[in-house]
Amino acid sequence: MKSIRRKLSIMFFICSLAAILLITMFVNLTITKKFDDYMVDTQNKRYERIVAYFQEVYKRDGKWNENSGVEMMHEAFMGNYCLTLLDSNEKTVWGMNANDIKNNLHLNTMLVKDSGVYTSKRFPIKVNSKVVGYVDIGQYSSVLLSEEDVNFKLSINQSIIVSGLITMIIIIAISLYFSKQFSKPIKEVSNMSVSLSKGNFDTKYVTKSDIKELENLRSSVNILAEKLKQQDMLRKRLVSDISHEIRTPLNVLQNNLEAMIDGVFEVTDDKLRYLNDEVIRFGKLLNNLDLLKKFEAESTKINFETVDLQQLLKSVCEDFYMKAKNQGIELQYTIQKNQKYYITGDKDKLRQVFINIISNAIKFSKDNGNIDVNMYTRDKKAIIEIFDNGIGIKEEDLPFIFERLYRGDKSRNEIEGSGIGLTIVKNILDLHFANIEVESVENQGTKFTIYFDKLSI
Ligand code: ADP
Repeated sequence: MKSIRRKLSIMFFICSLAAILLITMFVNLTITKKFDDYMVDTQNKRYERIVAYFQEVYKRDGKWNENSGVEMMHEAFMGNYCLTLLDSNEKTVWGMNANDIKNNLHLNTMLVKDSGVYTSKRFPIKVNSKVVGYVDIGQYSSVLLSEEDVNFKLSINQSIIVSGLITMIIIIAISLYFSKQFSKPIKEVSNMSVSLSKGNFDTKYVTKSDIKELENLRSSVNILAEKLKQQDMLRKRLVSDISHEIRTPLNVLQNNLEAMIDGVFEVTDDKLRYLNDEVIRFGKLLNNLDLLKKFEAESTKINFETVDLQQLLKSVCEDFYMKAKNQGIELQYTIQKNQKYYITGDKDKLRQVFINIISNAIKFSKDNGNIDVNMYTRDKKAIIEIFDNGIGIKEEDLPFIFERLYRGDKSRNEIEGSGIGLTIVKNILDLHFANIEVESVENQGTKFTIYFDKLSI
């Protein structure tokens, strides 16, 4: 199998080579054609000049004699054509020897096209519209080329070849550069996916590219790696959490039962009740797992209707008001007036969202704490903020609080909980296309903000 870089380079190279060959061929053909046209034109002008010359000679002398063409001989010899002058009866008056031209041509074989076949053309010489004679112009080629003409053609061909070669070298360099630009990030992404598949989630894709698709690929692969890393961490934490939660009541049960069997502990009602509490705690954990499983299975069964968030939020806050007060916590709610807060949603499930967040706020509040619930509208959104000045969430816990069974350290050790409340909140809000954000400072408090799309009623 070939590497992508090699394949791209070969592709670039073949395309460029084909383009250069085609251009070279096309330029060459065009120049040759134009040049030949020019030469034929020049030749025709020469024929006209020769005929005009003989007309002048006849006008000057009034007749032909054997010296009539002598003045032309040198030029004709040098130009590799052969002249024969004939009178009006087509009888030769004066002529050059075609073999002399041939010998001359042998010295300069390069100068002719298709040399070897002698052809001649006859032109009438007219004076006062009367044919007074003929001139035969013969040559060993259809078009005669001078040395300059041939050199001109040669140098053009040479320039085409040289520029073709230079272009080729430039193209090879460019194709190597560009194929590297393409192949480097792709190679890196492929290496990265191999290391991800081996469970090495710490790898990061660093090579930046100015190609949009490659840049998208880079960021999504990095996000994928980050997500896999988080999931891996959560999975490990979940396993250790569950085993910790199960081990504690089991140890208590085992130690107490062994002590009772050995007669160390007396079997009393209190002891049995205590052991029963541990069994209940143990069962609760399994119930929570079951609850989550059930919720996830049921989450698609959603009854959409028009919900007035104002009414709903008010009723949940009022339900919790006494519970909070009993714990010395002040719960207040403020709803921006003269606004409508209608959304499409499932009333019962939305109630569950507010219950979970407000009961967490109460649970994680300190004595004499405050909980403020605000609702207002902005840019066609209904925004609900729930503040508390409780224990707050550690910065490292913040990204995970919506994950299944995730519980902050404090919560795990001191405050009872299941770690599924916020998972349910997130699931329900996702079904409503609503967003939730959390901001928190440890020991200062927490703020949850929910954004709903309002109905335009
Ligand atoms: P839990 O049953 O533990 O409350 P949740 O899913 O409701 O489970 O919450 C997950 C974790 O988020 C909690 O264990 C806690 O650490 C943290 N958390 C949630 N709400 C608050 C809050 N208002 N103040 C402090 N910590 C909170």
